[in-house]
Amino acid sequence: MQTDILIVGGGLSGLALADHLARQGRDFMLLEAQDRLGGRILTKELSGGAFDLGPAWFWPGQPRMAALAERFQIPAFEQFSTGDLVYQDQNGAVQRGRGYASMEGSYRLAGGIGSVVTALADVLDPTKIMTSTRLTAVDHSRGEITAQVDDSGTPRIITANKIVMAVPPRVIADTVSFEPALDAAQMQALQNVPTWMAGQAKIIAVYDQPHWRNAGLSGDAMSQLGPMVEIHDASPMQGGPYALFGFVGVPADARALHKDEMMRLAVAQLTAMFGPEMANPLHLVLQDWATIPDIARPKDRQPVRSHPSYGLPPNLRDLTARGLIFASTETAPEFGGFLEGALEAAERVANTLALQT
Ligand SMILES: Cc1cc2nc3c(=O)[nH]c(=O)nc-3n(C[C@H](O)[C@H](O)[C@H](O)COP(=O)(O)OP(=O)(O)OC[C@H]3O[C@@H](n4cnc5c(N)ncnc54)[C@H](O)[C@@H]3O)c2cc1C
Repeated sequence: MQTDILIVGGGLSGLALADHLARQGRDFMLLEAQDRLGGRILTKELSGGAFDLGPAWFWPGQPRMAALAERFQIPAFEQFSTGDLVYQDQNGAVQRGRGYASMEGSYRLAGGIGSVVTALADVLDPTKIMTSTRLTAVDHSRGEITAQVDDSGTPRIITANKIVMAVPPRVIADTVSFEPALDAAQMQALQNVPTWMAGQAKIIAVYDQPHWRNAGLSGDAMSQLGPMVEIHDASPMQGGPYALFGFVGVPADARALHKDEMMRLAVAQLTAMFGPEMANPLHLVLQDWATIPDIARPKDRQPVRSHPSYGLPPNLRDLTARGLIFASTETAPEFGGFLEGALEAAERVANTLALQT
């Protein structure tokens, strides 16, 4: 197989780049290791509602996300934040009205963030997209790129003029080999970039009624006890079913070992914080991103406490001239880590490639 530009990774950055290239009339192929597109974006349908198990928000001042929603006519709405907040201390004592609504003013999308993945996939030529196809090795010794891929268990070779890795840098460092090898400093630079939110887990609890709203609560809550440490309303734009989600504060290794106990404690926590009606959710779902090796590597199991400063490490920039290009959100200097950063990275690479035609 042969193509001009081989895009690796079918998350938002890879899909957005494919869309740029398609609109420029460029020849490309996109590979995605998993059997679905979206990467860290995952919206799950439960009892007729769409619920975000990965990213849920974008923010004012993020123009590319706003433009994408507008282009595909996906309605955006403000995060629900009407009502009191709830705070739980480390002994389990609950106080109402304490704290601030940390996500007030952020936007969500009707149908979930996954609707941008669906919309982008719908405008791309399906014959140019291969899911369940993993890049394993890159030979860049002869001017053109020779990529070894594993296509659902069958090894294949794809040759290309350029390869764009829209994959978290740490995943590349751990899982893709290069010939000639990248030097030690370049490998270290890839390893040093934390994959934003990759070690996190979300629990979502779905109800037929918005019990917290009915009690004058916004659904925003902080807890020093856990298992959920930060909770928000995750209900659809209009109507039910209604939901709260929480970021899990339990370390990744303990989550894997004590899942059943953690889920039981999560319901007990919701009941303690929001009232006895919360005892019987229609659905209780855990999405543990740390268990997905195409996204989270062992180093990502240590939580990142503050937002890192992102952008393509300087010693990887020269590789662009050799046809090796990096494009995940972590390579975006302004909005790195965020959905907006994935679009920023795709835009930067599309502009670079346009200059090279
Ligand atoms: C729980 C959680 C909550 C978040 N909340 C928000 C939020 O509210 N707002 C926000 O802006 N951002 C949020 N983020 C971050 C946001 O999800 C990311 O910025 C964005 O999705 C990254 O897109 P990407 O395409 O750069 O990378 P990814 O989505 O990681 O895509 C990379 C893709 O590459 C694939 N891949 C990996 N290795 C290979 C290989 N060898 N061959 C082929 N394919 C490969 C992976 O399977 C994956 O699909 C959150 C993330 C998580 C996990």
